[in-house]
Amino acid sequence: MKQIKEYNFSGKRVLVRLDLNVPLNDNFEVTDTTRIDAAVPTILKIVNEGGAAILMSHLGRPKGERNGKYSLKHIVNALSQKLGKEVKFVSDCIGEEVQQAAATLDAGEILLLENLRFHKAETEGDAGFAKKLADLADVYVNDAFGTAHRAHASTSIVASFFGEEKMFGFVIEKELAAVEKVTEHNERPFTAIMGGAKISDKILLIEKMLDKVDNLIIGGGMSYTFFKAMGGKVGNSLVEEDKLNLAKTILKLAKEKEVNLFLPTDSKVADNFNNEANTELADNMDIPDGFMGLDIGPKAVEEFGNIIRKSKTILWNGPMGVFEMSNFSYGTKEVAQAIADATADGAYSLIGGGDSAAAINQLNFTEKVSYISTGGGALLEYLEGKKLPGIAAIMD
Ligand code: AMP
Repeated sequence: MKQIKEYNFSGKRVLVRLDLNVPLNDNFEVTDTTRIDAAVPTILKIVNEGGAAILMSHLGRPKGERNGKYSLKHIVNALSQKLGKEVKFVSDCIGEEVQQAAATLDAGEILLLENLRFHKAETEGDAGFAKKLADLADVYVNDAFGTAHRAHASTSIVASFFGEEKMFGFVIEKELAAVEKVTEHNERPFTAIMGGAKISDKILLIEKMLDKVDNLIIGGGMSYTFFKAMGGKVGNSLVEEDKLNLAKTILKLAKEKEVNLFLPTDSKVADNFNNEANTELADNMDIPDGFMGLDIGPKAVEEFGNIIRKSKTILWNGPMGVFEMSNFSYGTKEVAQAIADATADGAYSLIGGGDSAAAINQLNFTEKVSYISTGGGALLEYLEGKKLPGIAAIMD
């Protein structure tokens, strides 16, 4: 397999799949440049060596139709600023105009193609469409980890047209290395912290982690299903009634595999799903009627913090409460703080994408953890041990 750092792009036309799916405001300005920042090293390596970079991405979910709202032209300025270079733009990703623009691109120039998902063929993984993309270039670089779990034309099918001339970009390389460090080359104790709304979304990951970790901490909305399964009184807290047996099975498996499973002792409970709701603290086995747990409580914060601060490898996926509401963000913030402390003490910490990454950014802990994944669903599937089409297309 080719490695990007060893490859010389001089004189090559390079098709690069990026994840430039950034949030835009009502004026179509980019409000968070994290994904653009992440894409910069790969693009600069190509053009600084005298390659011509043809960039492709999706933006939002235009569902196979042209829609100005999701045009990648909105990100040209932000991308150009970050690169410190001109970025040319073409208003489609296949067709004559695109071929012309790609063919006349000089060494060191950058061309951004229009949103791939304006064509249904992209998400359908259409081989004819992938071939048209492939014909634009000599080399293929996949650096879109966030879509690596999709067998789309630009993320996986296209790779088959490049023979050996394909590789990962720096983002995907770093993602794979981070997961490997956590799951294969970890220092003990290894603690996984799972949170978020539902067990059903994370069950495969939880099961997988039971084979890997010393400690499994479960907080957030999903913990109430466990308390109910243990015979607790959880009031109006989020419960997945059809997952009660599953919760029991997890508790049993943890015992069998000698994994220390920690559930939050207490919660901050509210009489409403609202930041202004009346709140009190409650034991999680005995939440008063009419109240719901929306954050872990101070006892849980202390217990979780003690475990986390003693850990040498940490994986975090999912908030400890409804952190989007300021009155219920305390537990998530304190867990982030404990992870930051452990990291300062030499632990390796991987923050799983989506909400935990958003929480870390929002709380300004970005620099205080080892690695924040750029992929939500893709990271979960990769950690679960699934073969991701975007990864397999390059490796196999
Ligand atoms: P997930 O996408 O599964 O990681 O879940 C993240 C979402 O779970 C966030 O939007 C949180 O607000 C929500 N969440 C976390 N804890 C709770 C809770 N105790 N009750 C309801 N929702 C929660």
